[in-house]
Amino acid sequence: MALIVQKFGGTSVGSIERIRAVAQRVKQTVKAGHSVVVVVSAMGKMTDQLVKLASEITADPDQRELDMLLATGEQAAIALLSMALQNLGQSAVSLTGAQIGIITETKHNRAHILHIHTQRLQHHLNEGSVVVVAGFQGMTESDNWEITTLGRGGSDTTAVALAATLKANLCEIYTDVSGIFNTDPRLVETAQLITEITCDEMLELASMGAQVLHPRSVEIARNYGIPLVVRSSWTDDPGTRIIPPIPQCCPREMLELSSLIDSVKFDTDCAKVAVLQVPDRPGVAATLFHQIAEQALSTGLILQSIHEDDTNDIAFTVNHRALSQAHATAMATVPLLSAQWGDCTPSPEVLVYRDLATVTIMGAGMLGYPGVAAQMFTALADAEINLHLISTSGVSVSCVIQGVDCDRAITTLCETFHVASSPLKPAAEPCQHPSFSASSIRGVALDLNQACLTLRQIPDRPGKAARVFQLLAEQSISVDMIVQSQRRQITNGRITRDIAFTLPEGDVDVACRVLRQAATELENAQIEVDRAIAKVSIVGSHLSQQQSSAFKMFTAIATHRINIQMIATSALKVSCVVSSDQGVEALRAVHTAFGLAGHHKIKVPA
Ligand code: ADP
Ligand code: ASP
Ligand code: MG
Repeated sequence: MALIVQKFGGTSVGSIERIRAVAQRVKQTVKAGHSVVVVVSAMGKMTDQLVKLASEITADPDQRELDMLLATGEQAAIALLSMALQNLGQSAVSLTGAQIGIITETKHNRAHILHIHTQRLQHHLNEGSVVVVAGFQGMTESDNWEITTLGRGGSDTTAVALAATLKANLCEIYTDVSGIFNTDPRLVETAQLITEITCDEMLELASMGAQVLHPRSVEIARNYGIPLVVRSSWTDDPGTRIIPPIPQCCPREMLELSSLIDSVKFDTDCAKVAVLQVPDRPGVAATLFHQIAEQALSTGLILQSIHEDDTNDIAFTVNHRALSQAHATAMATVPLLSAQWGDCTPSPEVLVYRDLATVTIMGAGMLGYPGVAAQMFTALADAEINLHLISTSGVSVSCVIQGVDCDRAITTLCETFHVASSPLKPAAEPCQHPSFSASSIRGVALDLNQACLTLRQIPDRPGKAARVFQLLAEQSISVDMIVQSQRRQITNGRITRDIAFTLPEGDVDVACRVLRQAATELENAQIEVDRAIAKVSIVGSHLSQQQSSAFKMFTAIATHRINIQMIATSALKVSCVVSSDQGVEALRAVHTAFGLAGHHKIKVPA
């Protein structure tokens, strides 16, 4: 007899007929001899409707009251499912997050789970009842037992957190598609099902916009070694297995906070090539990285900053062995750019920086904890270490710094994150399941809910960028694709740079407010916002070692004459920002270019 946690999303319980079907499935699982805890979302689009009702009362609802309102959606669904089970002769009891004791932080709308009381749950399970739990909600312990919610899509996180706490044998996420596909099957009908994927890859796909799993649920599965399956609630198809790495011994207390940073890594063989003032036109990045790929040169990070005066800066890292060839290739590309885009004025310029180092903090638990990245930047700034490039992923934050600062950076970071030591040799690879090939692109994701915020003319001194991310972290705003312009400018006698990053569109107003409030500190840097963006990302292990992946992606986008506004990479992904109306077209182009399209067209429930 196994203990199984089964979670059913909104569409899966979207009607009385669906609730009856779910009850049948749960009953069958019990009949097969298992104990079952069921987690349900609100029916259909109920949460959206509740949000809309609130917005009709006020544009800026009180967060506590919003949680009170949103938690009712799940409460209705659990009662109905419990009744449906009882109607089938299956003993069942519905419980809200507060009734169970799902204890969260005191943070409304995006609380993390700290721990889960199991007594009441266990009691009902021992009696042979199915326990039907309201997803997405919890309760504070220290602050008057307030009701909290975990953030949109958070029922997945409730399910995996329960599985971790109860040491369940399996956690099944039932949804409206038959598993994890190599891209969103609702947007690309040639998407193909993935039968197995590592937690790290899934974490990246989910945090880059594949909403099929709440990214934090994957963090918990990874940290606690929970076997996770995503499958359809319409069929008996096996779905997708998400493979956790070797389970670690994480304490069940401080559940979502137990394993933020587990290692600090470094690489001292790092140099940077920056190509400044390239034309802001479709095909520029493709042309440059075509040349690089032709030379079989491996690039590390690639970043392209926001355009200014119709030109962009592109920077990439290579190891020292490849540097002179990479430099020569970049120089040789400049005339090609001029030939293709007329006489570029001013002409692109190539700069080379040697003796750099990459320092990386790694661990799952950073999503939704923007404070971690901000803490890293602040710690490095306090040690007077300047950042050349920043790269973020679901499981890591890397900074490129001067090589001479590397030892100091490691000491500072180990102290800051209470990591005892770091390995001698960098091991930037994500955890990997042995059955996967080292070079595969696992999937392509699209995020249409992001905006780009640019701070123009921010003083180029250690600590200024860190302060920006600290201010945002204090508001729990997560940022991604942080790109500093390579160019420095002289503004009112000071050296300044531009810095741009992407953030959830819903957080833009708060971000602008706190940054404006800090105008004096940020020496009146100008704030620009572009809400009409889409982020397209390819995800796979060892991406940074495959010189052709980035080039292939840029080419696919350029072939559709879509302009790439920003580029940022990590070991696990390459992301490009394009304009929002071209997002789906770019996604389809990239999906096809990587040979990910299947012959069978997917049909998904309406
Ligand atoms: P639920 O209500 O069951 O939680 P969601 O709407 O949150 O369902 O997630 C399922 C949806 O995720 C699918 O309908 C699909 O459109 C979308 N999706 C995005 N990317 C992927 C992907 N890579 N694989 C599967 N589904 C995806
Ligand atoms: N009902 C919540 C939402 O729509 C939580 C969930 O479905 O996971 O975001
Ligand atoms: Mg969901």
